[in-house]
Amino acid sequence: MERHKEQAVPVIKLGYVRLHQIFPKDLLERSQLVVVTTKLPFPPVRSMGLPEFGEMENMSREGITYKNTFFINRFHQTESLCFHELVHVIQWERLGVDNFLLAYGVGLMQFGYLDYRNSPLEDMAYSLETRFDRRSLPTDVVGLVQQGTDAIWNGIAPLVFKAREQ
Ligand SMILES: [Zn+2]
Repeated sequence: MERHKEQAVPVIKLGYVRLHQIFPKDLLERSQLVVVTTKLPFPPVRSMGLPEFGEMENMSREGITYKNTFFINRFHQTESLCFHELVHVIQWERLGVDNFLLAYGVGLMQFGYLDYRNSPLEDMAYSLETRFDRRSLPTDVVGLVQQGTDAIWNGIAPLVFKAREQ
């Protein structure tokens, strides 16, 4: 992922007016977009010891977020998709790398990678994206995402720790 650094643009510089209305300035400053012209990168799940999700490396997706950086295919760059990926940035920040990947992975196990849109962290991002498009967002999006992310984590943490004990 490091090799993409030079093309990364802070979201605050993209000139998306609605994102400025919805998110705090510092979030838009530390989040960055990389426009991708070929295949989107995917976290190397196989080498991270999650071979079940190896298939996902080959999926075609419009955008993907890794920590505070999101990658969007150049044909799909819209304010709406940037909003979606910013929801993931907040989720990543809330959970940290290890727990985000665990929570995301458990969600995929529950719904299957073909239905990844229904996994809890994606479901949150897609439903908020729909509300963004309909201009029916709640006032405190960041707080809502943080609470929702905590709830998802609280739901799966017992399963994760139980599996580790075995
Ligand atoms: Zn997503």
